[in-house]
Amino acid sequence: MEMKNRLDEPISVLRGIGDETETLLHEMGIRTIRHLIEYFPYRYEDYKLRDLAEVKHDERVTVEGKVHSEPLLTYFGKNRSRLSIRVLVGNYLITATCFNRPYYKSKLELNMTVTVSGKWDKHRQTITVQEIKFGPQELKQELEPVYSVKGKLTVKAMRKFISLAMQQFSEDIVENLPEEMLTQYKLLTRIDAIKTIHRPIEHENLKHARRRFVYEEFLLFQLKMQALRKIQREQSAGNAHEINEQKLNEFIDSLPFPLTTAQRRVVDEILTDLKSPYRMNRLLQGDVGSGKTVVAAIALYAAILSGYQGALMVPTEILAEQHAESLFKLFEKFDVNLALLSSSVKGKRRRELLERLKANEIDILIGTHALIQDEVDFHKLGLVITDEQHRFGVEQRRILREKGESPDVLFMTATPIPRTLAITAFGEMDVSVIDELPAGRKTIETYWVKPDTLERILQFIEKELKQGRQAYVICPLIEESEKLDVQNAIDVHSTLTFFYNGRYKVGLMHGRLSADEKEQVMREFSENETGILVSTTVVEVGVNVPNATVMVIYDAERFGLSQLHQLRGRVGRGDAQSYCILLADPKSETGKERMRIMTETNDGFVLSERDLELRGPGDFFGKKQSGMPEFKVADIVHDYRALEVARNDAAKLINSDAFWNDPKYELLRDSLEDSGVLDGEKLD
Ligand code: ADP
Ligand code: MG
Repeated sequence: MEMKNRLDEPISVLRGIGDETETLLHEMGIRTIRHLIEYFPYRYEDYKLRDLAEVKHDERVTVEGKVHSEPLLTYFGKNRSRLSIRVLVGNYLITATCFNRPYYKSKLELNMTVTVSGKWDKHRQTITVQEIKFGPQELKQELEPVYSVKGKLTVKAMRKFISLAMQQFSEDIVENLPEEMLTQYKLLTRIDAIKTIHRPIEHENLKHARRRFVYEEFLLFQLKMQALRKIQREQSAGNAHEINEQKLNEFIDSLPFPLTTAQRRVVDEILTDLKSPYRMNRLLQGDVGSGKTVVAAIALYAAILSGYQGALMVPTEILAEQHAESLFKLFEKFDVNLALLSSSVKGKRRRELLERLKANEIDILIGTHALIQDEVDFHKLGLVITDEQHRFGVEQRRILREKGESPDVLFMTATPIPRTLAITAFGEMDVSVIDELPAGRKTIETYWVKPDTLERILQFIEKELKQGRQAYVICPLIEESEKLDVQNAIDVHSTLTFFYNGRYKVGLMHGRLSADEKEQVMREFSENETGILVSTTVVEVGVNVPNATVMVIYDAERFGLSQLHQLRGRVGRGDAQSYCILLADPKSETGKERMRIMTETNDGFVLSERDLELRGPGDFFGKKQSGMPEFKVADIVHDYRALEVARNDAAKLINSDAFWNDPKYELLRDSLEDSGVLDGEKLD
């Protein structure tokens, strides 16, 4: 790209940046003047004078006062010393302690005004001095920026480079937002906002600068997302399915229950996508037990009726088997060929299955990520559904989408994603929500108890077992060691076996079992041969045994809220009252808070919002899958209102002619070009 602007000059043009510094800055991703001036502080040192009565213990504070008596200098060891200065600050007589700076003594006089900054020890009424000024505070700048730095680079040096760059180059900072937006939202101009971020006068003014960048970041990001969405729609000559509505309705009428209003609505949204010439790219969110499986079945059947094949992909083999079983039942009386492709389908059977798939003898293929291996060829793949989508990485999503001729894609998830995350991480997708549970579902009663009440819990389980019900007991995952993890489950299993002493059978499920063993264990449990299933978290997603009414979770404080909710969702799937018992003794406040929230609500969406607040967006999806953009200034949790506004603005812009033609939007258009969205490079 041509040199547009002096800001694109290399940092070496600045005085004071030698080879060594340049290398360090490069490592930090700072190559040009633009990078340097857009390198923002991660926090500020606050020099605002404060009333000591308001300052908390251990907080950093700056105070101004008068030297009250002769400072006391003590040496201990050769080079170590302590200088204690009594300072009168308002009505407070405090001590300011300076370590290893004996020479300060000669600069101090009785009654002289000093400004000291440091950590406040409330109990000893002492400030451990970090900085001292021999005179009154000069109220120029209360807030000093603190930059994150590397190696030998100091914060002070960073401040100097940035301030130099600002002096020489700030005139070249161009406004990228159109005038009308600045006026409408009362935003600072780009140049003023950058100046303020680096040299804020006070808090109010910093907030203003932040606000501008929050909006800018969200708008640029959402423009990308909305452009992607538009391009995906227009470029993807998807399949316009011609659906035999009569046959589809026969299937819907054959279901053992009427669809809920929410299921109906979502089915309509999906069918509209299928019929349109655009390619469906939809996220379906629905709380545990909201009935996503039948929605998937209806969508798959619709695709089959218009002459295509469908694929259903899930994260675990157990879940694949369960889904296969549910779909077999649902399609029992219909002309649909289903097949399950799991890792236990090997050799000749596998080859045959793949051949049948290619020959269009299989209508729906169900399986884990094995489905996206190269060797799996469909005849005419028209619809891909992934369940518990958050378990799949971005890359897997892409490969999947490239299989077949532009198949429509539906991602289903039972981990309700807070809206803010949904529109950032999945901003380019359409979103459907099942926000209603089938009628007659009872709220699962949730209790948080201390681990030492185990015996009473086992008795409680027995009461349920006597009525023919079943129970899950979940042992925590010990991250560091699968071995310990399995051992843990084995121990719990033997404790329970001993307790129930042959009255009830206890099953055991963990990750070390072979696929066949797992299947066996699951079958015994779903046929109520085993009354209790002791398991690690492998049963977390999707497993459906409606007769189970008790869920006991060991060490519940180790699980995140979403995971606890998922586990709890394994019960309450039938008509009977169900219970969830959290065995936990959390030490931290957030741990306690998580347990409380679990006992207070059954609503997955409420939980997910609280989870996001407690954990922050980075952790929400776990480490592997993120697809989450990083924002420099904006925070999707706290700035969610701005995010909504920016999203709406971006959608309007992208769909207007003015945006693509009017010169005032040129820089915004450029940002799309730079990001590669327009040439389809970054469709994922
Ligand atoms: P999830 O959304 O968690 O995947 P499932 O699809 O497993 O939920 O459905 C949970 C249970 O609810 C299943 O036993 C299913 O048969 C039942 N179900 C689904 N839809 C309805 C409905 N409209 N009315 C009654 N029961 C339903
Ligand atoms: Mg499900």
